[in-house]
Amino acid sequence: MKKEFLLMIAITTALAAFAQDANAIFTCKIGDAEVSLLSEGQQRGNPSTLIGATPEMLATYAPDGDFPTAVNAFLIRLPERTILVDAGFGTRLFDNLQQLNVRPEEIDVLLLTHLHGDHIRGMIRNGAVAFPRAEVYLSKAEHDYWTSDEETNRLPAPNREAFITAQNTIRAYKKALHLFTPNDDGNDDNALLPGIYPIAAYGHTPGHTIYLLKSGNDRLLLWGDLTHATALQMPCPEIAVTYDVNPEEAIQTRQRTLAYVAEQHIPVAGMHIAYPGVGRIFRNGAGYFFEPSIDNDAFTRAVDRQLQRYPESRLTDIYKHFFQDYFGPGHAIKDPESAGRYLQQELALCGECTGDPIEPTGWQGRYCRVDLCVVKENRITQEALLNAFIESANNALTPPPEAWSHTWNEMIRRLDAMPLDVPDYETDKAALQAILHDGHYAVHHSETYEQHYNPHYRIIRKTILDRLTENGNR
Ligand SMILES: [Zn+2]
Repeated sequence: MKKEFLLMIAITTALAAFAQDANAIFTCKIGDAEVSLLSEGQQRGNPSTLIGATPEMLATYAPDGDFPTAVNAFLIRLPERTILVDAGFGTRLFDNLQQLNVRPEEIDVLLLTHLHGDHIRGMIRNGAVAFPRAEVYLSKAEHDYWTSDEETNRLPAPNREAFITAQNTIRAYKKALHLFTPNDDGNDDNALLPGIYPIAAYGHTPGHTIYLLKSGNDRLLLWGDLTHATALQMPCPEIAVTYDVNPEEAIQTRQRTLAYVAEQHIPVAGMHIAYPGVGRIFRNGAGYFFEPSIDNDAFTRAVDRQLQRYPESRLTDIYKHFFQDYFGPGHAIKDPESAGRYLQQELALCGECTGDPIEPTGWQGRYCRVDLCVVKENRITQEALLNAFIESANNALTPPPEAWSHTWNEMIRRLDAMPLDVPDYETDKAALQAILHDGHYAVHHSETYEQHYNPHYRIIRKTILDRLTENGNR
């Protein structure tokens, strides 16, 4: 076993406890509505499914050789009705509904974005309709495509499965089926149901329809399959996928919708956006930046973890923890030589390992702090750590300042409501607001923190540590 891989034992223990609960249900409030992500599963997507992704795009936005994806349905609970948007495969759907205390008979409305199997298979359970009381809404264009004999017969018989599944499902719900023509865009005010505005988003399939939910002053766009590889298709919306029926049209629809939600500050929910499946979109150069919504429980746990381990933390240190989770080591050091020199200098200053030297950052744990003591104690070579750090820095995201500013304001709202015993909280809060206001976001640890904890670590992307672990196990 190579020396650098001895690190794996520490990594495995630190991260196993942190792994995202795959069964987690994410719920957010949109006006009077409670919207819940019902995840059918979290996966890693294969770049071979992408059309138009250059090697540079893949190296930048899929540095691990794949990208996070998921299959989701969404539940909307309004005071007057309960709505399911798509039905997934039906793998975890019914367990998820049960966890939310919703029986299938309580679903009043089923809104369909399109008729691919990963959106409708959950409509049939044990050979019968799974939602006996639901009124089903589907765009006429989508219905006509999948029920057309001409389209079905275009394919050789063994490849007609998707058409047969769609036709059988639609037939089973025939009595409850409502066909409609969606609005051209989100400015159109024709509601399908109170608070539900369907928008044509054709391309992925010929009748693909997305749903704008309006409740009180809040809005949410449930945008179906507008992205399958969010990490790539936000910065590069011109990337399509092999399962787009009309990739060109799908690209135009994505561009148009991204511009609309970024301009109007409308959060989105996606059927293939990884947990939590909901977030906001900001313009970022020629493309867009996706900012995931905050998981409240994971956020609270991360704050508690920080304060238990570092009770002398100031607000600045809490901020730094979350900032690092979103953006890793940033692009501060790109030149390997000076990065190597800094590492060498800092090694002379750091002490022995106390406690776990590997610590996940923030609430997502996308990055880890790796204490330099692991090099001192020969658990990892200096070279391996340096390489992992440089790779992390090179692939770190560059957020538009307003996206991070928005996230931090959301975090502050939650921190304000927590019973925190952090000195100079208000002073630090104002100082951080001033930094963000000036369009900057990187901060140093507080002096108190430096004095108490003598922090010397490198921020490494979690997937790079995972890779080291896998190699070590071989
Ligand atoms: Zn899909």
